[in-house]
Formats: sequence, structure tokens, C-alpha cells
Amino acid sequence: MAGDSPDLVHAGEAERWGGWSWREPSRGEHFRTCSYCGSIHPEDLAAEANWAAEWADRKYGWPHKFYVSVPSRNPDQRFVTGATTGKDRPTYDGEWVRSDAIPEDVITDGWQDVAETYGWVVISTRPKHHAKFYTAHLADPGPDRQALETIQRVSGLRFTFEDGRVRWEPFTAGPQEGARG
Ligand SMILES: [Zn+2]
Repeated sequence: MAGDSPDLVHAGEAERWGGWSWREPSRGEHFRTCSYCGSIHPEDLAAEANWAAEWADRKYGWPHKFYVSVPSRNPDQRFVTGATTGKDRPTYDGEWVRSDAIPEDVITDGWQDVAETYGWVVISTRPKHHAKFYTAHLADPGPDRQALETIQRVSGLRFTFEDGRVRWEPFTAGPQEGARG
């Protein structure tokens, strides 16, 4: 984590924003996220029972990010999941309500100035959260080592961060899992 130790995760990127830290869960999610990149906390991801990594494009030339669906702990929770600026009630399927009459139990995080900006919003539950994991967080000496190992095993790639360089290879049980000898 950020703190007194050098930032091995977002070195050279996050400083001008005041570094990074773990944000407490929000938006109906139950996992912490990085204040800089939005990554799910490695320990919170490793604690999930069932997940798979969906690797993103190698925009920066290396597998820097994967997406992951995380089952909601509260599948009945309702969210605003869409909006329209039109005055008339949309004819699309869904539970549309006027933007100035959203029930109080509905989570509107992520939608700014809903009542002023939109005419109607659509409300639905979210059985799964769409999370992402930035592999730079594997360079963090802070989290539980076993959690970092689990993430690499499930995602299928093992990473090494050394001298500012990153290497990766298909995951095979390595010395850290005591597979030798
Ligand atoms: Zn981050």
C-alpha cells in the first residue's frame, strides 16, 4: 500500500494525484478499490469463491488488466442502470421512473445530477458487479502473499516485477506453492 515505502504499484503515475489508497466499498459493492486505477483489492478478489479473468487488450504491451464478474452480496439491491433525457416515458422494457422521483432505496452512485440532467431513469438489480484488476497491484508488498498467488493461479499468468520491468509467463505451480522436491 501507499505509505512510507516506495510506491511499487503506481510509481511515477499516482504521485501527482497525491498517491493512492484503498477506498472502502461503495456503490453496493462489497470489495475495496484502488483510488487511482479502480482495481479491486487483491485480498477481496482472492476471497471470491468463483471467478475468472477476462483479459483486456494489451493496450500498453503487456497484460496489465483483466475484467472479472463478482456476484453481488445483495442481489435485491436496485440501481439506476440507465437514463434518458427525453420528456416522455421511454418505451423500452424496464422499470422507468421519473428522474426526480427515484425511490430512496435505489443506489444512484455514478450518476451525477440525475434529476437535473435526465428525464427518466431505468432501475434494475445487478446480480454481478463488473470489477477489474490491474496486475500492477501484484507488485504491492502489502497484501497477503497467498492472495496474490491465488490471483495469479486463477488468472493463468504469473508475474515478476523487477527493476521497473515486468515479466509474465503461464502459471505453473512454483516454488511458492512448495511443488518442488
Ligand atoms: Zn491501482
